[in-house]
Amino acid sequence: MFPQRTPIHVQNAHKSIVPIYEFLAKYERWITNGRDDYCDLAVGNPQTMPLEGFVKTLREATTPRNTLWYAYKTNEPSSREIVRASLKHLTGLDYPPENIFLTNGATGALLVTMNALIGPHDEVIFNNPPWFFYEGMILNSGGTPVSVDTDPHSFDLDIEAIRKAITDNTRFVIVNSPNNPTGKVYSPDTLVKLSNVLDDASKQIGRSIYLVSDEAYRTIVYDGALFHSPTKFYKNSIMIYTYGKTLLTPGQRVGYIALSPYMDDLEGLRAIVYSNQILSGWAMTSALMQHCLPQLEHLSLDVNALQRRRDRFVSGLRECGYEVRVPEGAFYLIPKSPIEDDVRFCEILANEGVFCLPGSVVRMPGYLRASLTASDEMIKRALPIFAAARERSKTGYKCIRPFSRES
Ligand code: PMP
Repeated sequence: MFPQRTPIHVQNAHKSIVPIYEFLAKYERWITNGRDDYCDLAVGNPQTMPLEGFVKTLREATTPRNTLWYAYKTNEPSSREIVRASLKHLTGLDYPPENIFLTNGATGALLVTMNALIGPHDEVIFNNPPWFFYEGMILNSGGTPVSVDTDPHSFDLDIEAIRKAITDNTRFVIVNSPNNPTGKVYSPDTLVKLSNVLDDASKQIGRSIYLVSDEAYRTIVYDGALFHSPTKFYKNSIMIYTYGKTLLTPGQRVGYIALSPYMDDLEGLRAIVYSNQILSGWAMTSALMQHCLPQLEHLSLDVNALQRRRDRFVSGLRECGYEVRVPEGAFYLIPKSPIEDDVRFCEILANEGVFCLPGSVVRMPGYLRASLTASDEMIKRALPIFAAARERSKTGYKCIRPFSRES
């Protein structure tokens, strides 16, 4: 199916994202072929109107104030200063502004990091269940993905398994807290243990193994829980952040890479990250979004409202017999599918207008992933459908409320 001479690593990267690719195609059909009263819990897209402050900021920033307003931008000093102050507040650490690189969201930040660091034979460790693009991105950069299961009961990092997975070829370890999909927020205790393992392994192989901390959801934590940046515990840390979750505007593509102030070989690392921003397609945050950054830094979705939605959704699902945990952070509930085949169960729900991501797409077969970015109304409408689908899936499913306009 691939054109001749398609590089093997590109083929493998493609294959690794086929499940999500196919799901997205199906999801597009659900959206376009169905009625308008669907409940979209599938991919974390906002189902409510954007923050007013966000729209106002963008509107005001479009008017140019000088000839260079829309000129090529790199990592603008004003943007770096905003991030520096924010990181000082978050971590207590003094990040030199030159350690901060403005990117196109977290995917852009991960891509630049991978392009800068991964060479042939390099291995990158990530934790299972993962964000669904890590593996494909590692493969596409020419590296070898190594996945390590988290603890099946707590979803905490399995530090011993990470230690065992490290080899002479390990380049970096990716951690994602709060976690997509599990909602787990890693404790300082876990992060200290991870740091010790990475320190020991780095000494043993004679070079630094990096820790890449994907903090896409770090502002989305519930019940007063504290987020601890893994970067505070290990000096050779690379922080990845996106404003897309906090602002619930993932299409506007703003994020950054921040290199820990105490990093080894800092100067060289800054140089290759910057050149890889350029070589990865001028992978800097756009001029407009950098103009907006000072205001955007102070905006956020309403996390308390999200927590209330989480609580209503969890109790609603439990009342109708679903097994579901309470996530500590991030956007997702992962109820157990009432039948083993989670893909089939998502189709049953979709037939009735409720769209969820099958757990198998995120290496959680037998589960569903439902996003809290749905509106309250959607969740209210979805709960009786969840209840009925569960009942009927056990007795032999027959759709009573066909959703597709075609059926
Ligand atoms: N990492 C994680 C854990 C994510 O969930 C996402 C988005 N779903 C990303 C990275 C990518 O973020 P962005 O949209 O800013 O590229």
